[in-house]
Amino acid sequence: MSFKISRRGLLQGGAAIVVGGALQRAGFAAVGAPLEEVGYGQVTLKSAMHLAQYENVRSILMGLSDDSLLMPFRKMAGQDAPGEDIGGWYQYRADYDYKKDDAGLAPSATFGQWVSALSRMYAISGDPALQQRALGLNHLYAKTIATQYYAKNRFPAYCFDKLVCGLMDAHRLAGDADAPAILEQTHKAALPELPGRAIDREAIWRQGKDVSWTWDESYTLPENLYLVSAQMGAEGHVYREMADHYLDDATYFDPLARGENVLGGKHAYSYVNALCSAMQAYITGGSEKHLQAAKNGFDMLLAQSFATGGWGPDELLRKPGSGEVFASLAKSRNSFETPCGSYAHMKLTRYLLRCTRDGRYGDSMERVMYNTVLGAMPLQPDGHAFYYADYHSRAQVDPAANSPEEALGCGGKRAYSSHRWPCCSGSLPQVVADYWINGYFHEPGAVWVNLYLPSTLRWREGSTSIEMEQEGTYPETPEVRLRMKTSQPISFSLKLRIPAWAEGATLQVNGRPVPLRVVSGFATVQRRWKTGDTVKLQLPMRPRLEVLDEAHPETAAVMVGPRVLFALASDQVVTSRNHALNLQQSGLGEWMLQSASGPIRMVPFTAVGSQVYSTYLQVVD
Ligand SMILES: [Zn+2]
Repeated sequence: MSFKISRRGLLQGGAAIVVGGALQRAGFAAVGAPLEEVGYGQVTLKSAMHLAQYENVRSILMGLSDDSLLMPFRKMAGQDAPGEDIGGWYQYRADYDYKKDDAGLAPSATFGQWVSALSRMYAISGDPALQQRALGLNHLYAKTIATQYYAKNRFPAYCFDKLVCGLMDAHRLAGDADAPAILEQTHKAALPELPGRAIDREAIWRQGKDVSWTWDESYTLPENLYLVSAQMGAEGHVYREMADHYLDDATYFDPLARGENVLGGKHAYSYVNALCSAMQAYITGGSEKHLQAAKNGFDMLLAQSFATGGWGPDELLRKPGSGEVFASLAKSRNSFETPCGSYAHMKLTRYLLRCTRDGRYGDSMERVMYNTVLGAMPLQPDGHAFYYADYHSRAQVDPAANSPEEALGCGGKRAYSSHRWPCCSGSLPQVVADYWINGYFHEPGAVWVNLYLPSTLRWREGSTSIEMEQEGTYPETPEVRLRMKTSQPISFSLKLRIPAWAEGATLQVNGRPVPLRVVSGFATVQRRWKTGDTVKLQLPMRPRLEVLDEAHPETAAVMVGPRVLFALASDQVVTSRNHALNLQQSGLGEWMLQSASGPIRMVPFTAVGSQVYSTYLQVVD
């Protein structure tokens, strides 16, 4: 692994596409039908860190009262609204002023996301309390549906999008038979107050309103509209037409599909999330142009990402070659909008992986999972949420440009946002529930392993039921073990993602070495499987350096396997390339780096706790 490795170099290669065999359907001739997602309930996850996040978001959502959650809808519809006001962004205030007020920015904006997460968690756990909660909230919400809600709302499209998602998930995952009718009423109420087409952020479409009325995200609507149209079959055509209508083609997808980088200056999370709409325009709508737009957009995003996989300092995507991402290391503590950004990123990479069968999208998903959202601080009962990850790791170049943040010195720290119930309190429960569907994919005759997590997958090939148990303490240790249990011997392909960094990976089946041939980031084991068959995969993890951009080859992050190691130091860390690449593991999940000022402990993001850390080091030869 080269030190001065070019990001562009990392992006190329391995572009060959595996054709999906006999099951191609019209519109997907070039790449085969997308891989199928597994059901939330088909996977049992046993990773303690993932389960702790699930338990956190479950207990917070179950702890909120119905009246509190319904309050903004009721107030905005002019109804009685008893109960406790939970405040924060969730609160409705008729006199909200964006220049003065924090509370009241986006009333009820997270409601649909929470109903979605409750439904997903019901599908994961089968806990009837979660199902009752999701259905009960929809039932109460249905009594508040009103066009006024959208007229008084700075984010009519955003709120509508989340409601669509919540109702769709309650219907497909929690058996809410009323959800399609509630969705129909919601759609009817929203239409008069939606812009009718994709409006880019900060474009004025409602006259006489201040700038805070231009922050809506109508360009993210198609994703859930396509999904709901596919879910509802013939009755879904109205949502399908609406989805087609809201594609942000002229200013975003058309130039992206042509390879023009138009990301610079765009709001980070929402425009990455919009790439998921492009992917659904392809998956549901069959549009090759939109697949191209999403692929190009993803590559452009990767080229401006931090080593953690995060992107968009101060919530802005940057122009290539502007040096602004590098400059942010000395200026900004709002480096990556973690829960919303990781939710968008993990969906996007899931869709891209399913459609291209290219493991590099899985590599990227894994990187974002371990280095960002898995280390998010838990959601608090009062709405305090983890929002930005902080990659501050360079001394301010211009000492005259003192900002209050400079008092913290060099280095980052995890902290709660000052906002309560922000956007990120809505996306965290959704991204956490999706850990259950990101690890595996299926197509007839093949199962694809994307994430290495202790877990069990249950599925069927024809009349045969199969259980595959995955064990190991990856990424703490390099070995992954898979054990099969089948109702009868059966032939299928086991596809294993081999991360691009895993040089010298090896594979054994039933104790015998098997040659490992990697095609587009996946190795295949094709055989007749029977109960007791065991696969052992070794993914060696040697320390490597990754630079943020080629103009600053001395500013690098240390990576081991999928994880960045953060130096626990409050001063800028200077070390040599030799020391960095010969980092010594000093315990489980802990390394020691020899720096110019003595030994420094390094840990992954999930272990930084409340300590000050440096994401990027100064690495000199
Ligand atoms: Zn957010």
